[in-house]
Amino acid sequence: MATGTYPCFSSPVRLTFGRGCSPGVAAALREAGARRPLVVADPGVAAAGLLPPLLAALENAGLAPQRFTHVVPNPDIACVMAAAQVGRAAECDGVLAVGGGSAMDTAKVAGALLRYGGTPLDYDGVEHIPGPLPPFVCVPTTCGTGSEVTANAVITDLERRFKFTIRSEHLLPRAAFLDPALLDSLPTTIVAATGMDALTHAIEAFTNRTWQPFADALAREAMRLIVAHARDAVRGDPDGRAVLLLASTLAGIALSHCGQGLVHAMSAPLGGWFGVPHGVANAVLLPYVTEYNWVSVPERYAEIDALLEGADSSPGPGGESSGAQRSAVALRRLNRDLGIPEGLAGLGVTEAPLERLVEDTFRSRNIPLNPRPPERAAVGEIFRRAIRGAPLDT
Ligand code: NAD
Repeated sequence: MATGTYPCFSSPVRLTFGRGCSPGVAAALREAGARRPLVVADPGVAAAGLLPPLLAALENAGLAPQRFTHVVPNPDIACVMAAAQVGRAAECDGVLAVGGGSAMDTAKVAGALLRYGGTPLDYDGVEHIPGPLPPFVCVPTTCGTGSEVTANAVITDLERRFKFTIRSEHLLPRAAFLDPALLDSLPTTIVAATGMDALTHAIEAFTNRTWQPFADALAREAMRLIVAHARDAVRGDPDGRAVLLLASTLAGIALSHCGQGLVHAMSAPLGGWFGVPHGVANAVLLPYVTEYNWVSVPERYAEIDALLEGADSSPGPGGESSGAQRSAVALRRLNRDLGIPEGLAGLGVTEAPLERLVEDTFRSRNIPLNPRPPERAAVGEIFRRAIRGAPLDT
């Protein structure tokens, strides 16, 4: 129940949703005063043919776009520096991100470097970007990160094998165009992983210590939509993919206000050490962390179970909620239906750096937000189980 006080809720990104809406980026950038936008994408997005219609729209609007299409997954410092260098050499005065979280996060930080110089490490932490970016617009082409509405950018420091988060209100784009047509080419495995990423964002925003009613409304709707449509989206249904795109943005707004929890704290080191894609790491970890977390907020996990199963969410006798306990099982079933592996070992993750994985987990700003204050030993055990694919009941 909403009885506390809640920090300011504001989502200033102008959102446009609809099949075929993405050429609208040209007017948005032009209105904002950009003439030479840096278009940031990765090779997969370029190969899928998503760029030519957008570049044509920009040129038809009298703009002179410059391309950087070398974004890497879990983008690292060198990738961001290279993007900024291309933008600087071409005297770019705006930034357009076309892609998933990797392209959007690269574009965000490249925009900051274009205007303020330095390296991504200079902006690590909270509100270290001194002012607004050049006009910045996003076109998400996966259905997971919600980066188009978050004040975050996640960058990998390869030297430390560590993914760090730059958080600043200045990283929010002024507009985002959610065009489901761009998801037609998205491979099934990426629909599954990014859809589960969005579900994780909604669940962690909904269950963590900084939940709040404005974000709850978005998280609940995101969970409902993802649970109802993820299976169809993965089977290739364009309407299902459109719904997932919408849901990922709703979940992104919730996450940007509430932060996340233990799943995100643990998935970042899996990206840093083993390059596991963000969405896959979250999806695999989610049921294991749910087994650990549900006791702290049983009513909330019971509600999640009800969404997942259509089951009765009322708490049982003594305030215990068997629905909450069941939510991990239901999440595992959803993962299985979407083709997400049960364990991390098949993705190349080993227990060799376990101590470092735990240490890096505890460096996350999401740790104090987790509903159950995590203990180191418990986190080590969750990693072991998740690597082996061994749920608690085995
Ligand atoms: P991604 O951006 O790495 O893309 C995954 C793959 O999908 C790439 O190979 C790409 O080429 C391909 N792809 C994307 N769209 C396509 C399309 N329409 N057609 C064909 N192929 C397409 O994956 P992601 O999961 O969207 O982003 C992950 C990154 O986002 C991670 O670095 C993660 O840490 C970060 N992240 C950021 C935030 C935030 O708030 N800033 C939140 C969550 C995650």
